[in-house]
Order: sequence, then structure tokens, then C-alpha cells
Amino acid sequence: MKITSFSAQVLFLAALLACAMAPAFAQTGAEAQAPLWHERALTVDTHCDTPFKLLEKGWDIGQYHKTGERGSGCQDLPRMKEGGLDASFFAVFVGQGPRTPEGHARAKEKAATILDAMDAMYEKYPALCGRALTPADARRLEKEGKRAIFIGMENGYPIGRDPGLIDYFYRRGVRYVTLAHTSDNDICDSSTDRRDPEDRGLSEWGKQVLWRLNDLGVMIDVSHVSDRSFHDVLALTRAPVIASHSCARALSDHPRNLSDDMLRALKKNGGVIQLCILDDYVKMPPPNPKREQAFAELFKKVDETYGGWGGIKDKAARDKLEAEYDAIQARFPQPPVYVRDAVDHIDHIVRLIGIDHVGIGTDFDGGGGLADCRDVTELRNITIELARRGYTEEQVGKIWGGNAMRVMQQVIDLAQKK
Ligand SMILES: [Zn+2]
Repeated sequence: MKITSFSAQVLFLAALLACAMAPAFAQTGAEAQAPLWHERALTVDTHCDTPFKLLEKGWDIGQYHKTGERGSGCQDLPRMKEGGLDASFFAVFVGQGPRTPEGHARAKEKAATILDAMDAMYEKYPALCGRALTPADARRLEKEGKRAIFIGMENGYPIGRDPGLIDYFYRRGVRYVTLAHTSDNDICDSSTDRRDPEDRGLSEWGKQVLWRLNDLGVMIDVSHVSDRSFHDVLALTRAPVIASHSCARALSDHPRNLSDDMLRALKKNGGVIQLCILDDYVKMPPPNPKREQAFAELFKKVDETYGGWGGIKDKAARDKLEAEYDAIQARFPQPPVYVRDAVDHIDHIVRLIGIDHVGIGTDFDGGGGLADCRDVTELRNITIELARRGYTEEQVGKIWGGNAMRVMQQVIDLAQKK
């Protein structure tokens, strides 16, 4: 965000004051500068699941919702402004279903419904946000004091087996595609599909998808894909890739995270890993079978009744299920995970592959959030921790969006060169 108006200056001063009052952070040297760096950077979050809230009755993205209140979610447009978040990739997410023509048709319809809701958001709140398709759009919207909202597609399932749909989703504004989600699909294998232990990597159809995405200038997202799929993609793509929301496996041995070998390959590709601030990925919790069983039963119920959390349209039903979720959390608590734990991953990645290949993808409204970064209004805590560890303003700018926007521009340029 750039400080352009009196009210923005007041907001900025308030933010500075809020940080100055936070007891956890002593304001010395670079740390005292951190809120200013946060305001001056083009801050970009490459992954959130906020679009499913657009479909929720009674929830309005143009309204301010209080942090921590039930049903408030992790962000809305006013809170994004308060948190100094300039740009965000909203994920059009469709959970994996049957790999049949009917399944693919339903997935395409679901994705189209979410895209309709996105269109309605841009139309309803032109003073608060705008559609971003390029890094230049994000910079322009930042200057206008509006949130730049990009669209990413999480899970290539809605593309089905129809090459025409890749172009269709491009026309509707999709600028990255996460090839798979938690289960294998027709494009490639997933990092977390336990039903088929064999990792088949990228399929022949997946190669067609990859080449078309390269030609259109749509970023390929390797978060969620299996190790073999990751290496297959990097061997074939002529553009750099992103991992829109993943952490480092060296610090937290989760299949969703990238190993050091994968990180080195990503550097060679010129791509970027966007650190996911989801507690289980940042720090693997100790095993807790009772907790896992309780959650498995709740999620099964939600899946069977509504086809996933995103399918719950009724507010009363949603409140009841969220209360059940909170009750399980309270009954089987996990050790809290903090911003400092997430920044340990950034330190590791920077030491291994340098400052030019790391950014931030919160996974807000999709499970993302930490004890001291519960929602978008608390994102400055990441910047303060980076400053405390000696990162410079230039480095913070790269992490907060410079690297992701560089990759996005390269992907667009390479498409046009073809
Ligand atoms: Zn995800």
C-alpha cells in the first residue's frame, strides 16, 4: 500500500502505534521500520480460499468482520486494507471427485459458479477491489488504494479432459492452476493420495495441459502435487513455476512440503516457493490418534452431507459444525505454532536457494493461520519477525511479492515469445 491520503496516513499511524504497543516485539532498529516496509512493499498473498465464503449466505466480503469471531473468516476487503495486504490470489477450488465425464462436468459447473461469485464481487465493490490479471494491474490497483484480486484455480479437476476448458478458464481470469489437490487426478498424482501408493507423476494428458498453460501464460502451481509430478513438470515446462502454498520438508516432514532437492530444482527453474502459514505444515504436530479420529468423523459427516465444507450454504448448519470443530480443538489441543516457526522455514529456504525464490501464500480460509497471525490484520507480524532477523527492506519486498510478481511476469513474457 502506498500512503496517498489523509485517512491512509491515519490508518498507517494507527498500525504503527498498534505494533509499538505489542509487548512481544521490542521496537529497535530495523524492527521499528518494519511497519513502514510493510506499507511500502507490494504485498502479495498467492493463496487463500476466501472465494468459498463468497458463496455463503449472510457473509459479505465488503463488510468488516471482527478477528476471531465465529464465521468471520480470515479476511474481507476492509480487513485486507487494515492488514496492508495489497494483492491476493483467490482460489477457485473444487475438491476431487469421480474421474468420469459426469464428475468432470459437475466440477466445471462448480468452478463456473465460484467464478460468477468473483465477477459479482468485482462488480459490487469497484471502490474496494479490482480484477488483476498481470503484475502491472496489481501495481496500478495498489496506487489506487484498492485490493488487487487475482484468480488461481486449486485443482485442475474442473478442466476434465477438455483442452478447450483451459482457454475458457483463462478467459475467465484464472492465472495459475494448481495441477492437483489432495487426491490423484487425470493431470497428475497428488502428494497425499494414500489409496494408490504408486506415484505415477504427470500423465500424457497432464503434459498437454502443461504446454497449453505455458502457451497462455498461466502459472503452473506445484503445491499439492506428488514428488514425481513435481519433477516431471520441471523437466517439461518452459516457464518458471510456483508452489503457491508449501513449506520446507527439512523443517517439517510433511508430503505437502518441498524437500531440499526439490527446492534446488525450483531455483534452477527460476520459480518460487510461497510459504504456507498453516500450522500442521509449518510444524508437524505430535501424533494424537484420538484427535485425528474425531476430526476424521466430523469431516466424513461434512463430506457425506454437503460434499465438503464449501457445500454448507445454511448459516445455522455451518455454525453448528464449526462449533463441533472448535470443540474437538478444545478437547485435543495441539501445541501452538507461531510466526517465528514459519520464518524459520524462510531462513532455511534463503540459506539453501537464495532470497529470490521465496514468498508467502497464507492459505487463509483454507486452514492457514498461526497463533500470532490469525488473520490478515496480523500479517505485519511476519514483516516484523523478518526485520528482527536482519532481512533488509529490499529483501522483505522480494519475499512479500517481488519474487512472485517476477515469476508471473516471466510466465506472461515467455507465452508471448512463442
Ligand atoms: Zn491447498
